[in-house]
Amino acid sequence: VGSQMRASESKKDVLLGGLLVPGFDEQTCASRYQAVYYRKNMTRQPSPYLIKRLRQQEALQRRCGPGTEPYTSASERLRSGQTDVDNVDGCNYLVLISYRGLGNRMLAMTSAFLYAMLTGRVLLVDRGYGNTLADLFCEPFPGTTWALPPDFPVKNFKQLDEDAPESYGNVAVNRSGSLMGLRFVYVHLDHSASPANLLFYCDDHREFLHRAQWVIMRADQYIAPGLFFNPAYQEELDRMFPRKDSVFYILSRYLLHPTNDIWGMVTRFYHSYLSKADETLGIQIRVFDSDKPAQQILDQILACTSQERLLPGVVTTGGGGGDPPPRLPTAGARSMAVLMTGLSSWYHDNVREMYWRSASIDGEVVSVHQPSHEEHQLWFATKHDMKALAEIYLLSLTDKIVTSGWSTFGYAGHGLGGLTPYVMFRPVLNGTAPNPPCTRAMSMEPCSFGVPHFECTRKEFNRDVLQGKLLPHVRTCEDAFWGLKLA
Ligand code: GDP
Repeated sequence: VGSQMRASESKKDVLLGGLLVPGFDEQTCASRYQAVYYRKNMTRQPSPYLIKRLRQQEALQRRCGPGTEPYTSASERLRSGQTDVDNVDGCNYLVLISYRGLGNRMLAMTSAFLYAMLTGRVLLVDRGYGNTLADLFCEPFPGTTWALPPDFPVKNFKQLDEDAPESYGNVAVNRSGSLMGLRFVYVHLDHSASPANLLFYCDDHREFLHRAQWVIMRADQYIAPGLFFNPAYQEELDRMFPRKDSVFYILSRYLLHPTNDIWGMVTRFYHSYLSKADETLGIQIRVFDSDKPAQQILDQILACTSQERLLPGVVTTGGGGGDPPPRLPTAGARSMAVLMTGLSSWYHDNVREMYWRSASIDGEVVSVHQPSHEEHQLWFATKHDMKALAEIYLLSLTDKIVTSGWSTFGYAGHGLGGLTPYVMFRPVLNGTAPNPPCTRAMSMEPCSFGVPHFECTRKEFNRDVLQGKLLPHVRTCEDAFWGLKLA
């Protein structure tokens, strides 16, 4: 942000009501304190209790994090397997395995952070294949690092799977909770995790997990809704989040700050194409079944934006020489900038051409922009992930947003922006187009896949959980009937 904008908006609360701590070097991570100049005011405020808990967590991360005495002795215990030696430092750790796409990783990091806070563990994030973590995100905690050190003593921990002897399901079901001979517990929360592993969501102080100094977690999605079912956390969660509909919004604003390279991409694009428009609309297109353009999906996008009155219609005539003469643009005509994201440019090209070939009915000037079209998804490719993060962030800066159902990329975009999306139902390609094409979501929260099916008091399967009937603020997702979201 230029000094001019600074001066004119000098009253902005860059620390977001105490959510962020002052004192970080601004040069190394400009987005942390500059984001406020690009965003709308926060629609939900962090509670004073959450702010207090964040400060405690920061102190814990500093006291026990990599490079400290407690960390060195905890890693030594993990390496040697001497888990029966007393843990005198009171430092316990949660190691998160990063995998799948960037949206998946952002949802997993944010909700694993919530779990770390609830259980008083230090969060350490695996740098990912290709070490992309530090190219994407700034350090969230002052005076320490959240990146798992390369000399982490559990070799091949990224290959851990449900059948590992250390998996929560195995320990709970086959070992009756005995940790004897185990150096750590592995929590498997992949979206397709088995019911035995989902018992994790009911773990409380009576169970074995709190006795493990090291927990290694695999999660590719948003695990927060499941934590609300655990009676052991309910009071704490209520105090942290008096409103349940903005957990990701608030925590992601605390945790996820793009690095300077990405922030440059965000701000340059924003100033070039979005900042001057009267209104901005984000359209996030994610096609799961095919990389080829599909007319059916273009039709769905246009049906959605028309049904929800997000984009103006265009003047249609018979064509040829009989068209009415183009109108002179009226002074002060409203302008709308549409930010489209997707792996293909075809949808963008079509929408842009539509507003080039024809005038909008209401005289509004519609411009359509797409930052990149990478064609295919790549995994842990730095440049590719950087573009993806810049686009997720840009989506979060729009006024209104249309997202593709099932897409964690879209969830991260609207969640970070505090935007309640219009979510397009996932289509079956070459099948019948969903009708209606989209719906206004009930909240800005991401949908959680792979949710627990139990009522924790009895650890029994309970259909009401999945149907969103057990807790008033945990409901069935609009776009996935087996998913749950906070509202
Ligand atoms: P999901 O698969 O839709 O749930 O979202 P993820 O973000 O987890 O994985 C999709 C990955 O594909 C992203 O991380 C990007 O690497 C790539 N991708 C998908 N859509 C886009 C897009 O609109 N722009 C860019 N730059 N990359 C995308």
